[in-house]
Amino acid sequence: MSDRAIGSSGHLPINSGHGIHGRMSSDGVLTSTDDPITDVPMARSPDGYASLSAMTDVVTQQKQFLSDKVAHFTESVIREMTRQAMLHGAINLAQGFPDFSAPSEIKIAAQEAIGADVNQYAITWGAKSLRGAIARQMQAWQGVAVDPEKQVTVCCGSTEAMISTLLAVCNAGDEVVIFEPYYENYGPDSILSGAKPRFVKLRPPHEPNGEWTFDERELRAAFHKHTKAIIVNTPNNPTGKVFTRAELELIRDLCVEFDVLAITDEIYEHILYDGTKHISMASLPGMQERTITINGMSKTYSVTGWRVGWTVAPPRITDAIRKVHDFLTVGAPAPLQEAGVSALSLPESYYAKLAEGYRKRRDRLVPALEAAGFRCFLPRGAYYVMTDISAFGYADDVAFTKYLVSNVGVAAVPGSSFYRDPKEGAQQVRFAFCKRDETLDEAAKRLKQVHPLGVAGRRS
Ligand code: PLP
Repeated sequence: MSDRAIGSSGHLPINSGHGIHGRMSSDGVLTSTDDPITDVPMARSPDGYASLSAMTDVVTQQKQFLSDKVAHFTESVIREMTRQAMLHGAINLAQGFPDFSAPSEIKIAAQEAIGADVNQYAITWGAKSLRGAIARQMQAWQGVAVDPEKQVTVCCGSTEAMISTLLAVCNAGDEVVIFEPYYENYGPDSILSGAKPRFVKLRPPHEPNGEWTFDERELRAAFHKHTKAIIVNTPNNPTGKVFTRAELELIRDLCVEFDVLAITDEIYEHILYDGTKHISMASLPGMQERTITINGMSKTYSVTGWRVGWTVAPPRITDAIRKVHDFLTVGAPAPLQEAGVSALSLPESYYAKLAEGYRKRRDRLVPALEAAGFRCFLPRGAYYVMTDISAFGYADDVAFTKYLVSNVGVAAVPGSSFYRDPKEGAQQVRFAFCKRDETLDEAAKRLKQVHPLGVAGRRS
């Protein structure tokens, strides 16, 4: 293990910063490490219960109590930064959840559903009414015809939708292509499903308003006979990139040529800036039969705690996803699925207002970051801004975010948690701007205290 991630003890811990352990072969595939797994036997105290100190002290060489899989990734760095923010009383610009209210219509709909006793299990793969609303939305926004009976599975958030999908389609030895930097769940999700992640770089723009790009040859080289799927997240976390039609067509052509599935995480589909358009992979000719579209309520309706997400996939793949989902979680919260129907029926003006609200927040935070000395990569979608911190002279992003949370009082996410090789993100830090103006203004005030290493600065 290296010494990069942030542990749950309130200290910077001993861990890998990018969420995945293992060795990368020269062609970018993760292979397992030779590191032994440290077993923690259930040592018993005289009262018969496991004693914590004994549990953490005693190591047996005889039996491996832990799955090999969990040795290859760490806890989420993003979620840990939220715990760090609470510990230090810092403004949390780390985890992507809004600190403002959800729309009142959908809160009332949830209360009414509970009042009407929609309090028992919904149909395992989702309430009929919500599946119908999801199908109508895919048709209205993306022109994709979806059969809600055969193609939609409602899950506990898009997080569960992604892992259920990967478990449903991957076998040991399969590879999954992932653009990096990447949303940190994808690495562990691939490993848990038995697949090997193979990473393809998104490169940051050189000019201030430029786009993150990938190399076509590098992407092609990642596809071969063991490739089962490619994960595409657009609009993208953490870069804010919105994939263009030409880029999606290129990916489409490779998927068809190599007979590969596209798993697309479109959870930020309505959070777009500067005239960019979201294009669903499933809407491209030839792709509906090989695309699993993942989406959810969390970001579009500001309800990250509700845990309602879904997959839209061809019927045979949907059958497999439904089986996995059933045995993982049985179903998503029934009354919140009913409220989801109200949410998905909001008028178009709701989405325009949502995007404009986030555009204003982006344009509030980015100048404050730039004034403080960060180089910002302007996002075209989603609600994060990746920054370059090289002006501050810190050895790495973990040291910098530790300083930022404890001395300046602002929590952000170390860039290395979005890369398989922590070195790649060592001079990058991600900020979330899904926050009230007051929160962003207070963060901006605190960010004025950021100083290059070696220059004194104190939290006021
Ligand atoms: N996908 C991406 C790209 C995300 O950024 C997040 C949350 O930050 C999720 C999925 C999680 O979504 P959910 O709350 O629906 O599980």
